[in-house]
Amino acid sequence: ETKSRERGGCTAFEAEMDARYLDRQKLKSDLREALKSGALSVSYQPMFTPDGARVECCEALARWTHPERGPVPPSVFIQLAEEMGLVTEITCFVLRQACRDCSTWPAGVSVSVNLSVLDLRDRQIVEMVGKALHETGLNPARLHLEVTESCLMDEPAKGQSLLHELRERGMTLAIDDFGTGYSSLSYLDALPVSIIKIDRSFVRNIRDDARRFKLLCSAVNLGRALGLKAVVEGVETLDELQLINDYRCADLIQGFVFSAPMPASAIRDLCKPRVRRRNAKASRSQIA
Ligand code: C2E
Ligand code: MG
Ligand code: MG
Ligand code: MG
Repeated sequence: ETKSRERGGCTAFEAEMDARYLDRQKLKSDLREALKSGALSVSYQPMFTPDGARVECCEALARWTHPERGPVPPSVFIQLAEEMGLVTEITCFVLRQACRDCSTWPAGVSVSVNLSVLDLRDRQIVEMVGKALHETGLNPARLHLEVTESCLMDEPAKGQSLLHELRERGMTLAIDDFGTGYSSLSYLDALPVSIIKIDRSFVRNIRDDARRFKLLCSAVNLGRALGLKAVVEGVETLDELQLINDYRCADLIQGFVFSAPMPASAIRDLCKPRVRRRNAKASRSQIA
């Protein structure tokens, strides 16, 4: 009796594991298809000066709308792509699209592309970036590349030398999700980065959590002390924005308070130099 119940439980568990496994397999083959058929797209989220007056850069974010399931979050499909050895193809797609779109924006606006840890295992990335820049004629300084802290811890020597090479070719490097990885302060010194992007977990609750807010300000000031620009990510409310501005603890702000990610065409309108944005919330309705 006991045994069969145990086995029953075990079977149900296995059945669910099978279902999940099959589900992932299906999603993987759908992703492969989506990449081939051009079903992936790129949205952009602007980074504003803290007063909200000007856009300096836009982050390219991969998007996939599944024909049956609707939008699949990039946190899900990027990981699948990494498991499939397909992520560098996605990076390549996003890079080319981002360079193409950025070359239609005013010259003061840059574009920022996320790299996967796997992209930094192979010199191929350097060729890919070179090709995307060459095809579009974009000034390399207008192409920012975001890498996470874990990217750098994973394979330090190879990754670091590739980053140096990219920097020598004129790209701007940023550390993404700053403060969440296995941070080692020494790489801030060793790497040719110009920007740190403070993770949005340092912004949550800053109104009520003074210690959290001190951490945010300290991270920003650490970056500044080393001559780096600090982007504060995930600012959602006017309350948070005001506190951050009262203490001047952001060089750029990327978050829903100013704008959600949006299609390239909307970015073009947003960045038109003559159009003065009347209020910071104006673009919040445009969601991609
Ligand atoms: P990330 O690079 O840190 O990108 C910022 C994420 O924060 C985006 O989510 C953005 O929509 C979200 N975000 C921005 N402002 C706010 C805010 O005020 N509040 C909240 N709650 N969230 C905000 P998204 O587009 O879902 O991307 C998630 C992650 O997926 C990215 O984090 C990045 O790590 C990865 N990802 C996206 N596109 C690519 C890509 O093309 N290549 C690679 N390798 N990774 C990508
Ligand atoms: Mg990023
Ligand atoms: Mg980030
Ligand atoms: Mg992130």
